[in-house]
Amino acid sequence: MSLPIYLIGARGCGKTTVGQALARALGYTFVDTDHHLQLEAQRSVARIVADEGWDGFRARESQSLQAVTAPASVIATGGGIVLAEANRRFMRENGQVIWLNAAPDVLAARLAIQPEAEQRPTLTGRPIVEEMHDVLRERAHLYRQAAHHDVDAMQPPERVVEQILQSLSLARAS
Ligand code: ADP
Ligand code: MG
Repeated sequence: MSLPIYLIGARGCGKTTVGQALARALGYTFVDTDHHLQLEAQRSVARIVADEGWDGFRARESQSLQAVTAPASVIATGGGIVLAEANRRFMRENGQVIWLNAAPDVLAARLAIQPEAEQRPTLTGRPIVEEMHDVLRERAHLYRQAAHHDVDAMQPPERVVEQILQSLSLARAS
């Protein structure tokens, strides 16, 4: 049985980039919870939050997490997926959970290069670097708690993929 692999971590940590490469390497399907929920809702994340608030968005996110869960899948999750205890438990029970761990300054630098790619509204309108520090201060312990494996996501993407494959094969061997 090829359990799903969940990639967790803050915006910009490489869930999409690394996830697609990892899926290719394993011959798995790549899916993204944000993408799934926007298709279901027929609206952007920004629109959903404007219409239904963050609570509405979070409820849809949990539904999408369960809907996309299937064998032989690499699942990129939204940065806030770990906020709900039920999501953390669901991922741990249903697959292998990988935290793509990167420093806030690195995340901010990546997001600054492609600011338009994320349509998610910022919470405060403050500089992105400050926000990434706050986000990680709040969530790092939740990522750590949810993850089976903690991978250094500041290496080149192909190295990150290799390290994930190594963690998974070690886990299988033990
Ligand atoms: P996420 O899906 O977690 O928000 P992305 O995969 O969209 O992150 O990556 C955000 C940005 O960072 C993209 O411009 C991507 O090319 C870049 N990036 C992702 N992973 C790495 C990496 N390991 N090294 C350097 N740049 C990266
Ligand atoms: Mg992404």
